[in-house]
Amino acid sequence: MKVLSVNAGSSSLKFQMYEMPEEKVLISGTFERIGLENSFYTIKINEDKIKKESNLSNHEVAVQILIRELLENQVIDNLDEIKAVGHRVVHGASKYASSVVITEEVIQDIKSFSDLAPLHNPANVMGICAFIEAIPNAIQVACFDTAFHQTMKEERFLYAVPYEWYTKYGIRKYGFHGMSHKYVSEYTRELLDKEFCNIIVCHLGNGGSISAVRDGRCIDTTMGFTPNAGIVMGSRSGDIDYSIIPYLMKKTGKSIDEIDQELNKKSGMLGLSGVSSDFRDIDAKIAEKDKQSIMAHYLYVNSIVGYIAKYYVELGGVDAICFTAGVGENAPHVRRMVIDRLNCLGIKVDRSKNDEIRFGKEGIISTEDSTVPCFVIPTNEEVMIARDAYSFI
Ligand code: AMP
Repeated sequence: MKVLSVNAGSSSLKFQMYEMPEEKVLISGTFERIGLENSFYTIKINEDKIKKESNLSNHEVAVQILIRELLENQVIDNLDEIKAVGHRVVHGASKYASSVVITEEVIQDIKSFSDLAPLHNPANVMGICAFIEAIPNAIQVACFDTAFHQTMKEERFLYAVPYEWYTKYGIRKYGFHGMSHKYVSEYTRELLDKEFCNIIVCHLGNGGSISAVRDGRCIDTTMGFTPNAGIVMGSRSGDIDYSIIPYLMKKTGKSIDEIDQELNKKSGMLGLSGVSSDFRDIDAKIAEKDKQSIMAHYLYVNSIVGYIAKYYVELGGVDAICFTAGVGENAPHVRRMVIDRLNCLGIKVDRSKNDEIRFGKEGIISTEDSTVPCFVIPTNEEVMIARDAYSFI
């Protein structure tokens, strides 16, 4: 049975087609620069990668080309073979605590949450509408990035601001990267073979978040009302003292939008190092003993260690700490620096195992006598979406 997993951005559309329940990837690809000049798409099938330039004027055109490729490459013989399409949707607000079959009401809700995710939700709706039109017989399912964190209690998701900010305007912590936190925590529970266990998941990518998961349910996470909160990220500041914003506005005459842009796009590792938001570039500078890059690295690690320590206590001890996403999967030195700082809890890194596990490998990177096992688990948000979509068939 064939299920599509879709992640639509404002100018891109990523997809994977799975044979379910085997979870075998039949074809995957990305449409890029949709609605812009020089648009193109890449498709991977049977280890072959094809890149084609094509005029992708909108998402509907991209979906039509996708269907043509599926038929031409004989991945499907007809559209009715696709039983479900799972869509990644960034914001489900407080209403959606799990994935749902998309109805007109769900589409209206996703649109109405656009204030909370202006860059993402409108693009997600474009993707959904294009697939409903192209494959009307398939079940369409919305998988929300916020849903996994809906199990947080009020005392964890509220901010200490007037309560009516929450009741009137929805000001609260939502949390993001939910499909990744869910995938990694479920996978780890299986590895541990324990139904009841406490897991800390460190999703360290260009964006980054950490979550505390008890018995498969999220109890706390670092991202907040928006994905700008929490740990230091590639180009996002993470937690700051909010008073910096009005102070800077008065000092520099910059508008709130300009400062917002700088906190989003020019801060984090990029802002601190002055080099790049990408760890590979910063590492190259560290090799040249660039002081600012070295400091940025320490500050990044500090922000991660702070949250791991907090969640360790909030959970009352943990059964596993997991690293995932671009940095978590591929940067052993970051993992080593983080785990070394946890030595006071008896958590110890195995340096050689840690150095070995990267580029898509999974495994344990702590020593045998470490009080808590530490794992690298490559994330797989796409399969999580396919699983949720499949569950409705
Ligand atoms: P993601 O958002 O999960 O795709 O992660 C992307 C980020 O992972 C990049 O911006 C890099 O900072 C980091 N990254 C990817 N590959 C490596 C690598 N080989 N070494 C260090 N960092 C990496």
